Amino acid sequence: MPRHIYDEDHEALRSSALEFVERTLRPRAEQMIEAKSIDREVWREAGKQGFFGFDIPEEYGGAGVGDYRFNAVLTEVWAGFNAAVSSCFGIHADVCPPYIVDLGTEQQKQRWLPGIATGELVIAIGMTEPSGGSDLAALKTTAVRDGDAWVLNGSKTFITNGFQADLVIVAARTDASRGAKGITLFVVERGMEGFANGRKLDKVGMPESDTAELFFDNVRVPDENRLGPEGLGFISMMQRLPQERVGSAVNNVAHAKSVLLETIEYAKERKAFGQPIGAFQYNKFLLAELVTKIEVTEAYVDDCVIAHSKGELSAVDAAKAKWWSAQVQNDVLDACLQLHGGYGYMNEYRVARAWKDARVTKIWAGSNEIMKELIGRDLGL
Ligand SMILES: Cc1cc2nc3c(=O)[nH]c(=O)nc-3n(C[C@H](O)[C@H](O)[C@H](O)COP(=O)(O)OP(=O)(O)OC[C@H]3O[C@@H](n4cnc5c(N)ncnc54)[C@H](O)[C@@H]3O)c2cc1C
Repeated sequence: MPRHIYDEDHEALRSSALEFVERTLRPRAEQMIEAKSIDREVWREAGKQGFFGFDIPEEYGGAGVGDYRFNAVLTEVWAGFNAAVSSCFGIHADVCPPYIVDLGTEQQKQRWLPGIATGELVIAIGMTEPSGGSDLAALKTTAVRDGDAWVLNGSKTFITNGFQADLVIVAARTDASRGAKGITLFVVERGMEGFANGRKLDKVGMPESDTAELFFDNVRVPDENRLGPEGLGFISMMQRLPQERVGSAVNNVAHAKSVLLETIEYAKERKAFGQPIGAFQYNKFLLAELVTKIEVTEAYVDDCVIAHSKGELSAVDAAKAKWWSAQVQNDVLDACLQLHGGYGYMNEYRVARAWKDARVTKIWAGSNEIMKELIGRDLGL
């Protein structure tokens, strides 16, 4: 099926992102795994190429185009190379900037956005805590007002870019009696006394992304680092999660699609019983199903991207795109691994790594169960 989502400007961006993959990312693929993070030089190089600025207005160093399809086409390229890079760049360029652009004061925008656009300042967002991520309204990190500052105590976990982050958007409870209405957002900066990035967590997949715990021990955060009005943190996150979820959906489809295309080639070449394994009817039908699943899912996700570009994507439709694409991605990659036989279980094969990398997409940014809860609520049952 031809896609109708991108025009020549988006395709030009895809070409330059693909060049960046070959020139800058692929030669460092193994080094990123060993370091469990993306090199600072890579962040700066990506910034120089303008890959981080599509949600940032021009006056703060971005491209300010206001067309989400540019974010989506980049996500497709990063996911086609490596899911961890897609995740780290996605949090930095796609998830976090809208918080500062929409909620930040003039002074905050001038201070942080140019550095995010150039990749000099790596940013993360800390919502999830050791006590739970699904029930965001129950978060326990506290921020208590003290003169012209807030004193933060608590911890966050599983934070993407958390280890090397220079800035972290942190959700904290500022009013214990008001539930979801008692949560406020703050920007915590590297070097603030009492703020510690814990170890890089040892994950099942995506070793290249630095996922960390964050600790706040009486961190004095000036009121000028409060992001948005007091008590509106929860609603601010709910308003921006659909963008994170549609971005996840784009990632899920592109990631699985790239491995599926490689698998089709493998099935043409690998022989058993004197014929290519793809020629057995069982495998031919299986591959036909996988291609269908990917293309049909891609069409829905494309529609979500277009709707989001027009500011029309509902939180419920974003939830549908996110859980469904995560399920399809995992089903497709499991079948691709099977088609590779024993080689599929070897880390040197991309399919093996992709299969491990994909498992998290049913969990993060709102688990599949939470997505179904949101969709179910909307049915008025
Ligand atoms: C690699 C990685 C990167 C991440 N990056 C970030 C990040 O950058 N920032 C950030 O803030 N968080 C991040 N997360 C956290 C992620 O968003 C949470 O793990 C996720 O929201 C689930 O929260 P939890 O792990 O506390 O599980 P829990 O909330 O404890 O849930 C456990 C299980 O119970 C299920 N469950 C919970 N409530 C319900 C319900 N009402 N109905 C049915 N089932 C339910 C869940 O679906 C899940 O299966 C990341 C996680 C991982 C693994």
